[in-house]
Amino acid sequence: MRIGYGYDIHRLVAGRPLCLGCVVVPHERGLLGHSDADVVAHAIADAALGAAGLGDLGANFPDTEARWKGVSGADLLRETSARLRARGLVIEQADVTIVAEAPRLAPYRDAMIATVAAALGCTAADVSIKARTNEGLDAIGRGEAIAAHAVVLLGHANRGAPPP
Ligand code: MG
Repeated sequence: MRIGYGYDIHRLVAGRPLCLGCVVVPHERGLLGHSDADVVAHAIADAALGAAGLGDLGANFPDTEARWKGVSGADLLRETSARLRARGLVIEQADVTIVAEAPRLAPYRDAMIATVAAALGCTAADVSIKARTNEGLDAIGRGEAIAAHAVVLLGHANRGAPPP
């Protein structure tokens, strides 16, 4: 098995949808970025690429390439998962913590888990998404940004296969 850790943070601004965990969450502000700025998808992809030893998100999906400019979190996860499978690796488990002062994310948790799991090609039971505030501290606590931390466990696709 291989393990990876990922982190992402984006600034909250007016006039953008709030995309978190491949779900649009109703809020008066959204995350700023070249893509949909989904910190959950970005942290998971970063962790998965790290676990596979494939480098960081920016190296794999440069925003200077037209193909990745404006890419959705779900598409990013699908492509990351495909790159892992091409190397004989599968996502066994992902655990994510979102750090956001607002909005309250509990009502969207199950939808995020289902959508992220579908994009990764694993089951909802393999994906955990938790949310907490930053207790009013620093930029996240002031509501200027949302961050996500992710840990991803990879296994070998042929694990459990009978010996040749
Ligand atoms: Mg990002």
